[in-house]
Amino acid sequence: MSNQTYDVVVVGGGPAGATAAMDLAAKGVSVLLLDREGRIKPCGGAVPPRLLRDFDVPRSMLVAEVTSAQIVSPTDRRIDMPIENGYVGMVDREHFDEWLRQRAAEAGAERRAGTFEHFSRDTDGTALIHYRPKGADRDALETVRARAVIGADGANSNVAREAVPKSGKVPYVFAYHEIVRSPDNGAAHFDAERCDVYYNGKMSPDFYSWIFPHGETTSVGTGSAHKGFSLKDAVGDLRQISGLDLSETIRKEGAPIPLKPRKKWDNDRDVVLAGDAAGVVAPASGEGIYYAMVCGRLAGEAVEVFLQTGDARELAMARKRFMKEHGRVFWILGMMQHFWYSSDKRRERFVSMCADPDVQRLTWEAYMNKRLVKARPGAHMRIFFKDVAHLLGLISPGHASRS
Ligand SMILES: Cc1cc2nc3c(=O)[nH]c(=O)nc-3n(C[C@H](O)[C@H](O)[C@H](O)COP(=O)(O)OP(=O)(O)OC[C@H]3O[C@@H](n4cnc5c(N)ncnc54)[C@H](O)[C@@H]3O)c2cc1C
Repeated sequence: MSNQTYDVVVVGGGPAGATAAMDLAAKGVSVLLLDREGRIKPCGGAVPPRLLRDFDVPRSMLVAEVTSAQIVSPTDRRIDMPIENGYVGMVDREHFDEWLRQRAAEAGAERRAGTFEHFSRDTDGTALIHYRPKGADRDALETVRARAVIGADGANSNVAREAVPKSGKVPYVFAYHEIVRSPDNGAAHFDAERCDVYYNGKMSPDFYSWIFPHGETTSVGTGSAHKGFSLKDAVGDLRQISGLDLSETIRKEGAPIPLKPRKKWDNDRDVVLAGDAAGVVAPASGEGIYYAMVCGRLAGEAVEVFLQTGDARELAMARKRFMKEHGRVFWILGMMQHFWYSSDKRRERFVSMCADPDVQRLTWEAYMNKRLVKARPGAHMRIFFKDVAHLLGLISPGHASRS
């Protein structure tokens, strides 16, 4: 019983874990933030303005602000979607994550660099976190005790596997991208203030491919759940099409994106999951940074009440509150991905729908502010009927923008 005891050990210092650690430490809770460090999270880095507002992130953290998107269909039909009164922010995860961890430390969290190895219980039942300090030998493990644990260790969460075995399986898309040196504006199809999104079965049979500009660098990537599909070849094709084939390659990397929240996030006792570890990424878009931070905040709040009351049922509130707020949108996005991303014919129709100014306005408003516009109540209905007409094939893709 000689190991140091913390109120909370947060495993993983990405957006979810760093947010939970910051919130709890700012409330005077003793927090250890354990992150293995040394690896940049593979990520397109697109974030909505709402993230900056909700989590007090200064605009100076953005390396680029994108003001439009170009959506590209299988037949190379290109639809421009300008953003009215807003932008999509781009963060570089190398600096963004470190900034979040540092902010948690400034709020009072203790930081340690180390890899969580396994979980056990002390003789009095307290959670024991065994970890390997960065740079130490394989078997040179250290141990800390925790009244509560937040597992925010990403999509391959060891905490979920070890401590929350009832959390269920998560469907994944594997995403791969290449970071390239951004060309001068003017390379074929490249615009430093525009995101390009390709819906094309050749480049992704079940997800989408992207070009996200980050100032000096650009992320060119794709995703798929199909094991045999060559993501590298697809990104090679995309680089060629977009004129980025000759740009210097800076990094090549990939990681899974979970596509469905786990059924259970806590162990009914003292552990709760957050972010990718909880399976929380929006289907269809793969947006996970904002939701990870929301999740980290909710996990922190649930743990705070648990520490005050000793009532382990409070831990389940993190999932309950998240699903109440975002569950419906996740469900709709899941249906959209299932339907629209399943054949090139459907992708062609989907891209056509994006030509509709009402669809564009609703899409951007929903993305940027995580709410739907109330100003044009009739628009939802019109879009719904158009959507159904597209589904039934009553509108031909080429005429969608005028229908
Ligand atoms: C290629 C790709 C592109 C993406 N593009 C976007 C995008 O443009 N916009 C967007 O919103 N989302 C995007 N996502 C999703 C987004 O990256 C994730 O949803 C988000 O990072 C989740 O945050 P997190 O804190 O839950 O997990 P992570 O960011 O994965 O952080 C987990 C942390 O845990 C640490 N860790 C892991 N294992 C251990 C261990 N055993 N011990 C100690 N520490 C550990 C890691 O070092 C890491 O810091 C993309 C994902 C991929 C793979």
